[in-house]
Amino acid sequence: MANGWILAGALFLVNLGFFVLWVLFTYESMREQEPRAPRFGWAGMGVHALVGILILAWPSSRVPLAWLFGLLLAGGVFFLLPIPGKARSLRGAAGYLARDGAAFEKMDERESMFARNRSLRPGSPEYDRYYEAHPEHREYDERRRARGGPLGRPGAIDGGYRPNVAMLASSFELPNMVGDKARVDPASAAGQSSYAGGDAPGPEPLDPEKASRIVKGWAGRLGADLVGICRVDPRWAYSRRGEIHYGEWESWGREVPDPLPYAVVIATEMDSGMVAAAPHTPSVVESACNYSRGAYITTILAQWFGTMGYRAVAEHNRHYDLLMVPLAVDAGLGELGRLGYLIADRFGPRVRLFAVQTDMPLAVDRPVDLGAERFCEACKKCAEACPSKSLPLEREQGEDRGIVRWKMNAETCFDYWGRIGTDCCVCMAVCPFSRPYRSIHRLVRFLLRRSLPAQRLFPYIDNLLYGRRWRSRPAPNWAAFPKERRGGRAPSAQNRA
Ligand code: SF4
Ligand code: SF4
Repeated sequence: MANGWILAGALFLVNLGFFVLWVLFTYESMREQEPRAPRFGWAGMGVHALVGILILAWPSSRVPLAWLFGLLLAGGVFFLLPIPGKARSLRGAAGYLARDGAAFEKMDERESMFARNRSLRPGSPEYDRYYEAHPEHREYDERRRARGGPLGRPGAIDGGYRPNVAMLASSFELPNMVGDKARVDPASAAGQSSYAGGDAPGPEPLDPEKASRIVKGWAGRLGADLVGICRVDPRWAYSRRGEIHYGEWESWGREVPDPLPYAVVIATEMDSGMVAAAPHTPSVVESACNYSRGAYITTILAQWFGTMGYRAVAEHNRHYDLLMVPLAVDAGLGELGRLGYLIADRFGPRVRLFAVQTDMPLAVDRPVDLGAERFCEACKKCAEACPSKSLPLEREQGEDRGIVRWKMNAETCFDYWGRIGTDCCVCMAVCPFSRPYRSIHRLVRFLLRRSLPAQRLFPYIDNLLYGRRWRSRPAPNWAAFPKERRGGRAPSAQNRA
């Protein structure tokens, strides 16, 4: 009799554990306004409530339930088994290069969609030179330019709802204001600040470990959500300048200077509630707001290095010498995902990336394996949800400019931005790694980092529980756009004129 009650008590506790997991899952799903997942949560809670009653009221159910729970717990232990670290990301961004980098070519900034759209002025000598060298881009670029800048008519999908359009426009202004102050040396830092102590003294000698600790703490205090440090691989620098923001046309096509030896790489988290409204205006407001945060953090940090007697270059929306994603991989912030963005630790692709180059000696971080690449092989949610079908669905990756990766179609993506007047963000919003880093999602992320079975199986479970389609959620109240537009379907590539 006593044994029966001990078994019942043990089973009841295990069942309670499962019940609590379902409660957490349901709570989080409702908080995230998931349309489908809470139904599974309620069903899971119902099943475990019934099982609890069975355990107490029907003694003959206990032995079969003990076997069932034993199997489930053994499965759980299986998911905790660590896997040997073989992910490409552990070798840093160089791990993504084909044939040891033999085919890799540095990126020319003039080739970037943004540089072509906003920096090439029709009728200018640069414009003629560029399209003489690249006639293959002329037709697309002229058609795209006719739609307007990177966002076409800003906020078009929400009828140009003015409060939100003004938020994005005003947030994009801060990087404009500080971009020409990105390059700092001790003399310029001393000259710019009456607090810097007059003439620039020599560099402050600091132990690299201590310097990194100070830099990370300071960057965090300024608002960085993730900070990593790496040595700068010169391959991740642009080869030539293509973005002209301050009329310095003599720089167009010039070689980008060799980078400084270290980079402090920073990610700022985008608010999940704002991103969840993608592709509507709140998501682009959030992007712009984060570009502004990044410009603020990196400009101050670069000035700090200058005031400490070192050189520094702030890397943000109005001044990029370096490609941010490979730099972030090297600095241990995350991995490259199917959607072409960084899948960052804790926040997934829901981040914006910035950096500060410096010659202050710093202790560097190691690249990480989050289990994202294997998860991406089976997941494909971003590719299925992409309204312009710009992301590949294949499991296998291809070679692109000497890099083995899933290649997005930047032209169709950018075209879509021009039609809806936002930066879309659907791929970012739908990604399971973008879910807020708390409770049940935290547990899942922990398992993904260390378990191969989790990396292989969880994409299917995620698709079952959350579905594969994207439906934009209502924006936070203060950023809500007019009702007739809220939740409205974005134009798809298929119904494009
Ligand atoms: S931003 Fe939008 S259009 Fe571009 S790849 Fe992502 S989902 Fe597709
Ligand atoms: S949605 Fe899925 S496939 Fe796409 S980046 Fe995220 S995890 Fe990878």
